[in-house]
Amino acid sequence: MTRSEGLFARARAVIPGGVNSPVRAYAAVGGTPAFAVRGDGAYVEDADGNRLLDYVQSWGALLFGHARGEIVRAATEAAARGTSFGAPIEGEVLLAEHIAAAVPSVEMVRLCSSGTEAAMTAVRLARGVTSRPAIVKFDGCYHGHSDALLAAAGSGLATLGLPGSAGVTAGAVGDTIVAPYNDLMSIRAAFARFDPEIACVIVEPIAANMGVVPPVEGFLQALRAVCDEHGALLVFDEVITGFRVARGGAQEWYGVRPDLTILGKVLGGGFPCAAVGGPRDLMEHLSPTGPVYQAGTLSGNPVAVAAGRTALELIEAEDPYPELHRRAGHLAQGLRAAFAAAGVACTVNEAGGLLSVFFADGPVTDSAGAHAADHARFARFFHGMRERGIALAPSGYEAWFLSAAHTDADIERTVEAATEAARTLG
Ligand code: PMP
Repeated sequence: MTRSEGLFARARAVIPGGVNSPVRAYAAVGGTPAFAVRGDGAYVEDADGNRLLDYVQSWGALLFGHARGEIVRAATEAAARGTSFGAPIEGEVLLAEHIAAAVPSVEMVRLCSSGTEAAMTAVRLARGVTSRPAIVKFDGCYHGHSDALLAAAGSGLATLGLPGSAGVTAGAVGDTIVAPYNDLMSIRAAFARFDPEIACVIVEPIAANMGVVPPVEGFLQALRAVCDEHGALLVFDEVITGFRVARGGAQEWYGVRPDLTILGKVLGGGFPCAAVGGPRDLMEHLSPTGPVYQAGTLSGNPVAVAAGRTALELIEAEDPYPELHRRAGHLAQGLRAAFAAAGVACTVNEAGGLLSVFFADGPVTDSAGAHAADHARFARFFHGMRERGIALAPSGYEAWFLSAAHTDADIERTVEAATEAARTLG
């Protein structure tokens, strides 16, 4: 028995499924999850002493790779001064100022501890501001696990949401309308049917929770126009894209301004920190200035905000995006060539430095396309890559995350491993 297998057996006795977040359990790919022991830069080491080139990077939180010195030092120094006060601290102000300076549509932020909380707050705020009940979300977009946002998808025209999890009542998702991603017709149909009930449209500006699915040309602009036409708010969930595709997130990259923005992951430098942001006139509807209640014991935690601010300072100092985009582009090209050489049908989607591999023939532009890909083949590819020292996210519905610590040599190694692994997929 490996150490990971031993730990997993113990874990399953005291933690449901042995994990504290379901996708870590390898259910989609089979096998035993590798327990992580330490990471440095682009690499992670597991409990059995394997050192792997890591494309999980804490699900995108680590823009600068594992244990970047400046971030670790900032967090350690902050912790030594006090780990939590429940009183305002200067660090929160500094982080908020950095975010407001970076993200085009954001003047003010409310900090919290997870993307789930931030998305939940954005929806409550949108409903509070507009006094409307309904929200539109897209099939295949994930906004955390609050009840109203866990609606499963319908297909074709927009459908009323059905609960996507046991324990979510029909009532909780009764005002959630689900539409196919990249399908403007169904958005127009939803507004025709439900206006003036719709408070907001919430969207991942680059979808990255059904694998990476970029917006088709004009999609985000059209969402902006439809929301304006109907007095609904446009909410960008930039938990993944924020500070990752550009300093100002996907809204800067595509030049579309949402009303509200949800941030997480990179923002916390690997610590629990997230935010909802927007212009002052919307944000001041939050308590204590406004009637929309939101709170958190550990919100704006000193250690998390120190780490997050350091990550944002590193972004300002190093501008990692041109290199990240170039390397992601090379990787996508190399992967396409690897699969073509092996005669394996494959679509590699890449946008803004995010990429993922679908074992599918044609373009993948929505969740139906993502589901139609060969996920059993992905599972074999995942293990083939692992055996060759490359750690991918254990599901074909996840993005590959590069960090600023990934080098050109790392990309070459990955393409070589994929070329070999592809030959075994036939
Ligand atoms: N929104 C998006 C786009 C996400 O990818 C995630 C998590 N992967 C969330 C929200 C939820 O964030 P958290 O896991 O921090 O609650």
